[in-house]
Amino acid sequence: MEQLLRARWFDGLSSQPRPVLVGLVPGARGPALHLHPLAGDAAPPRVFSSAEVGWPEAWNARRAQRKVVVDLRSAGSLEVEDGARWHAALEAAGGRPGLAQRMQTRWRVFATVLVVAAFGLWAFYRWGTPWAAAQIARHVPLEWEQRLSAEAMQELDADHLQPSRLAPERQAEIQAAFDSLRQQVGPDLARYPGYAPKLTLAFRSGIGPNAFALPGGTMVMTDALVEAARLHRVGDDALAGVLAHEMGHVVYRHTTRMVVEQGVLNVGIGLAMGDVSGIVATGSTLLTSLAYRRSHETEADCFAVALMQKAGRPLAPMADLLLAIDGPDGHGDDKEATSQRPKTSASQASALASLLSSHPATAERAQRIKAGTVRACTVP
Ligand SMILES: [Zn+2]
Repeated sequence: MEQLLRARWFDGLSSQPRPVLVGLVPGARGPALHLHPLAGDAAPPRVFSSAEVGWPEAWNARRAQRKVVVDLRSAGSLEVEDGARWHAALEAAGGRPGLAQRMQTRWRVFATVLVVAAFGLWAFYRWGTPWAAAQIARHVPLEWEQRLSAEAMQELDADHLQPSRLAPERQAEIQAAFDSLRQQVGPDLARYPGYAPKLTLAFRSGIGPNAFALPGGTMVMTDALVEAARLHRVGDDALAGVLAHEMGHVVYRHTTRMVVEQGVLNVGIGLAMGDVSGIVATGSTLLTSLAYRRSHETEADCFAVALMQKAGRPLAPMADLLLAIDGPDGHGDDKEATSQRPKTSASQASALASLLSSHPATAERAQRIKAGTVRACTVP
């Protein structure tokens, strides 16, 4: 039994609205609208199929407006007094709210979901991944780091590096400085309790003045850096300072954290967007191309400051060396080493190798080291 609602019909012909009763009848293609004239006779109702009615859409779910205007196209329009009853009857007759209406009543929900999702993604990237990486890195076994480093070293030796041409005596001198520095790295300078990899130094040539650390304790110094120190007469204290900085990267497990972070990010992107390996691959390439982060450099610097002070060695020579090689030549060498990287290679070892590119903001860092304004290491 259809429920009848009072309405006024503006038929577009007469100037006066006519009182009518409106019924909504379920149909296969949506509710039909039956119009019963009130005045007098038992004339059959005028029937409008669902498609012939301009169903009103704009309404507020929380506060249905009192009056509803229904567009009957060429047959004029209806004004239904009781909006709430109209919507109840429409729903009972199987009327589904249009998309626009659903949007209108739920846009706040959509907007909120969008904002929350966008913030969530950003927060995940900004804080979530570095935090998760630092935590996970605690559980990364040293053997894993050493295996990764061995692979990376093989690849670097195959693609970029050549054996050192330094005289054995010179290598031995630098090795001695490295060893005495290494003996000063104790639990007081540890970042990860119990993490004490064996620190080793390797000499190579083939790229510009550079030094880098692989996870698990291997450090590489290039002949060009040793030569630069000689040319600029900054002495072995400068090289020791650079090595102390690299030891900082090892102790803080920076590369491991970057690699883990990349993994966390991949998993996160996968969860958020379903399996889209292309985007994941792009994401990891982007991330590894960031190379060392500024915060990692600062941490390594303050580690170097603490270690050098403990060893009783001056810091200014290292700063002078950094400034000397940060000229056009130094940068050019760094960039060259970076751009030689095969972009297509996706193995973990090569992702790691791309982390070995130049350290950012060298001049700025050198100035801070020289001015003694590098914050003292806060060892947790
Ligand atoms: Zn560094």
